[in-house]
Amino acid sequence: MKIGTVRGIKIKLHFSTLIIVGLVGFYAVTLFLDLVPEASLVEILLVGIINGVIILFSILIHELAHSLVAQQYGLKVSEIELYLFGGVSKIEEEPRTPKSEMIISIVGPLSSLILGAIFLAVMLFNPLILPPWLFVTLLYSGISNIGLGIFNLIPAFPMDGGRVLRAYLWNRRNNLLSATKTASKLGRIVGYSMMALGFIQILFGQFGGFWLIFMGSFLDKSARKSYVQAKNEVTLSKINVRDVAGWPEFAIPFDTLLNDAIRNYFIVFTQTYFPVVRGNDIVGIVHLDDIKRVPIEQRSEFIIGYFMKSLSEFPLIYEEETGKDAMRKFNQMDHRPHVAVVKDNETQRIVGFISESDIVNAMKLELYSHGS
Ligand SMILES: [Zn+2]
Repeated sequence: MKIGTVRGIKIKLHFSTLIIVGLVGFYAVTLFLDLVPEASLVEILLVGIINGVIILFSILIHELAHSLVAQQYGLKVSEIELYLFGGVSKIEEEPRTPKSEMIISIVGPLSSLILGAIFLAVMLFNPLILPPWLFVTLLYSGISNIGLGIFNLIPAFPMDGGRVLRAYLWNRRNNLLSATKTASKLGRIVGYSMMALGFIQILFGQFGGFWLIFMGSFLDKSARKSYVQAKNEVTLSKINVRDVAGWPEFAIPFDTLLNDAIRNYFIVFTQTYFPVVRGNDIVGIVHLDDIKRVPIEQRSEFIIGYFMKSLSEFPLIYEEETGKDAMRKFNQMDHRPHVAVVKDNETQRIVGFISESDIVNAMKLELYSHGS
């Protein structure tokens, strides 16, 4: 659910945030009732709702800190989503330098700690006597923000603390991949420790342990996933578009009937797409999906030219760009095939095509030839 936009960043709420709001509201109310056992129902509801909403804003501020600093470093941030485990800032690219990663990662926990300190300071140094609901709210929000800050500083990649650690190792070893490997290993160890702790808690009859097991396994999974992702990114950036791009071996003439195209090209060469030529020029690309939706009885009436997509509908890429650039462009496409037109930067002439499967194959080759 989209609730707003800040500097071009969409702010979204996942339905699972309701669980946090509910839990936080519940704990705040429990604390409130310890202090004011005779509280009225209205006061109880007020404390629950206010604390639930404050925690959402606290998480949002934490994520905004990451996102706005990332923007300062020229990284594109598409959205912030709040969900069960807090928030995620969808930063489109990985930070380019250890220093930027360090700063982007640390500002989140830092802003939580500062926010928490402000809540507590207002509570402690207020000359007026605070009404109990406000006292509880300030206390609870202060503690939960400080908790949020400290929790995120645990050096378990891909959590903030783990990213700080990775940035430090990256800077020292000058090797992003090896830094990621160490940081995510630690992430997995922390994940397993949480699960073990949760298990022990359950053995002793504390059912909060399920929550720890759940979080631990989530952390382990994200650590593994992030490592694979980092490895793929590094491999992709080693692939040169120039080396992988090529000219297609077969092309379908513009005025070929759909029937004939299917029979003589798609079936014979078992490819899912072909360039379409008119005279000596490639004018478009036709994918099996484009013609599949034409009813069989009409396939002898239409020519391929009507169903192809013209070249302008495919992204452009220059020879000196990398597999990473190409994949980013493919991910932004909303139609198949994922093919880009390769041009020479100086002459602006088309020098070939590159497809997603070309890149995937090159990636496999790179991974096999250098091991993992
Ligand atoms: Zn964070």
